[in-house]
Order: sequence, then C-alpha cells, then structure tokens
Amino acid sequence: MNDYREGLLSINLKSIADNYLDLADRLAVGARCGAVVKADAYGLGMVQVVPALYAQGCRDFFVATQSEGERLRSDFGDEVNIVILTGVRPGAELECARAGLIPTLFTIEQFRNWVKVCERTQLEAPCALKVDSGMTRLGLGPEEFELILKDRPLLEAANIRMLLSHLACADEPQHPQNQIQLSNFKAAGEKLRGLCPGILLSLANSSGIFLGEEYHFDIARPGSALYGVNPVFGVKNPMRPTVTLQLPIVQKRLVSQPQSVGYGATQEIPGGSWLAVARGGYADGIMRAQGGRGRGWAHGRPLPMVGRVSMDSTTFDISGLGKEERESLQSIEILNDDLTVDEVAGYAGTIGYEVLTSLGHRYHRRYVKG
Ligand SMILES: *Cc1c(COP(=O)(O)O)cnc(C)c1O
Repeated sequence: MNDYREGLLSINLKSIADNYLDLADRLAVGARCGAVVKADAYGLGMVQVVPALYAQGCRDFFVATQSEGERLRSDFGDEVNIVILTGVRPGAELECARAGLIPTLFTIEQFRNWVKVCERTQLEAPCALKVDSGMTRLGLGPEEFELILKDRPLLEAANIRMLLSHLACADEPQHPQNQIQLSNFKAAGEKLRGLCPGILLSLANSSGIFLGEEYHFDIARPGSALYGVNPVFGVKNPMRPTVTLQLPIVQKRLVSQPQSVGYGATQEIPGGSWLAVARGGYADGIMRAQGGRGRGWAHGRPLPMVGRVSMDSTTFDISGLGKEERESLQSIEILNDDLTVDEVAGYAGTIGYEVLTSLGHRYHRRYVKG
C-alpha cells in the first residue's frame, strides 16, 4: 500500500469475466450476450475490460459515442461488432461507416442521411434502429416507425442489422411498464422482420436479463451487472463484486476534547475519539453526499465516515478498533467485497452506476487477472 500514495483501485478482470459467463448462461437458447463498455467500461477501463470479455467469447460491444467506438475499433480490429448507442454525429456518417461502426439511429432524418451514405459509397454501412417502446428517451416514436415501414425503397437501400429498444423499469420486475414495453417491442420487431428478414432484436440490459426469457430476444446488452452492480432491486446480488478501493491514511490523531469535524463543523465527536484522515475525496469520486453517513472498512469491520467529505481527503472514526489494529492501520477500504458499490451508492443517495463511473483518475489502478 505504501507504494500507492494516491490510493489503490483494484479491478478484478476475472470477476468481470465470470459475471459475463453467468449472464450469458442465463440467456434463452439462441440468444447471445453482448457487453456494454461505454464510459470507459463504466469507469473501469475499456482497454483492459474488452479483452477479458473477448476471451470469454463476447463479440458484440456497445459504446455510447462515436469516439469510444473508434478507439475500440483501433484497439481491437475487425473481429468485433461495435454498436454506438447514441447515433452518429451529423456530417460524420462517412467516417462512421468507414470505421465499420454500427450506429443506432433513432430519427427518420438520421436514417435517411445514413442510407444516402450507403448509396453513395460501396460500403456495407450496417446500422441499427431504435424504437421507443415506452421509456420516452431516445427512439423512433410509433408514428415515425410506421413511416419508415411504409418507405420500402428506403428500407431496401438500408442495411439494418439490429432493432433495439431500452427498458425503463427492468430493475423492478413487478413494474407494469415492463410488460407494456415488451409487447410494444415485440410488435415492432415482427413488423420490421416481415420486411427485413434476418435483423437481430435486442431489448434487455442487465436487469432485463432477469425478467425472463421472453425479454432476451437475439442479443442482450448488459453493462452494470458485468461490473458487479446488483441488477435486481431489493434482492441479494447474484453478481460478483469487481472493485476494491484502498485509501492511504495520511494522518491519525487522538482528539482529546469534544470537537466538530471538517467543513461546516457539521458533526461532533466526543473527546477521546481516534480519527484517521485518508487521502481521497470528492475529486476522486468519493461522493460528498456520503458525508456523515458513509463507511470505510478495515480489519473486517465498518468504520464511520465523519464530517463532510473534502476534495482530497475523507475522515473516519477509528475509535472502534483495538490499539494494535489502530496502530498498524495504514489504509482504509471504501469499496470491497463487503462494502459494495450498491451500499456506497445508498449512502450517497445514488446508484452503483454513478459510483463506478465517478471513480477518479488519481488512484493507482491494478488489474487482477486470476
Ligand atoms: C447503458 C445501456 C445499457 C446497459 O445497461 P445496464 O443497466 O448497465 O445493463 C443497455 N442499453 C442501452 C441503450 C444503454 O444505454
């Protein structure tokens, strides 16, 4: 730990690979498992995560932006399908097609522009279409989708590889929205397949996989569950945790009199308390909203965070440790197998996704392979 004075973030690629196999195993026969690696694989490092998934047989990767796709293409060549979830930048269609990236198109205008590129060039230019099945975010609305279905010349000129939609409430299995979106998507899929046989259908994110086989279609698109976030709200997490974050302690002190701790003097501690100030604060993704509620972990036990989280440091009450434990203590874990991303997210009033994608860049990163 002494070598990692800015903190040590360990990312377990074996656990990510195991999570991939676990999810792939849950899929209906004939459905294949892709992987969402947007936002630098949810903050864990696309360059390291993609080969670990590739080694398990994953060939369908989903990214958010064209630049993420270009980077993935230049690192991993032509053997993988790369789908861009947020479309194509206007004017960048040719670049995107040349790189063999598959944009997810969700307006008629985007689709027409893309097809023009296909017609002008000899490029294969595969694309994906996205319908809004009820989430009301990105996607073709029902009227726009019907217009596309009616435009036979447009459909014939296009090379549509996949039809996607995204679930709004998949982490709540009982939510009626799931059934509604499922039937809307099924209907859209059948219509498009009637005109363009062979296109692949994709609906399920991580949580969608747990809704049952009807939701799996041809390709699943899990992201968060690969990285250890619990896919089903309120149920024991079936996924393996993938990250451990250790912060070095930069000061330990005995506070002899009752004192308030940190900015705003928001929290009082009694005289005789032992405090440890650890290197790592909200600039490193330790969310300020955890202040006064969050936990650290050492010697197999939780330790309360005290006062507000600062930009570069966080203070813990280590009075609960024995003298020897306290004296030998050099670091505090703030994410590990016991203190999970979901628990930390709870203290910060957010979701595990945001905890992962906020992890800072000052930590030393270690990738564990076995
Ligand atoms: C991010 C994203 C996913 C992955 O979702 P998880 O909940 O992380 O599994 C799948 N599909 C789309 C369209 C997304 O934007």
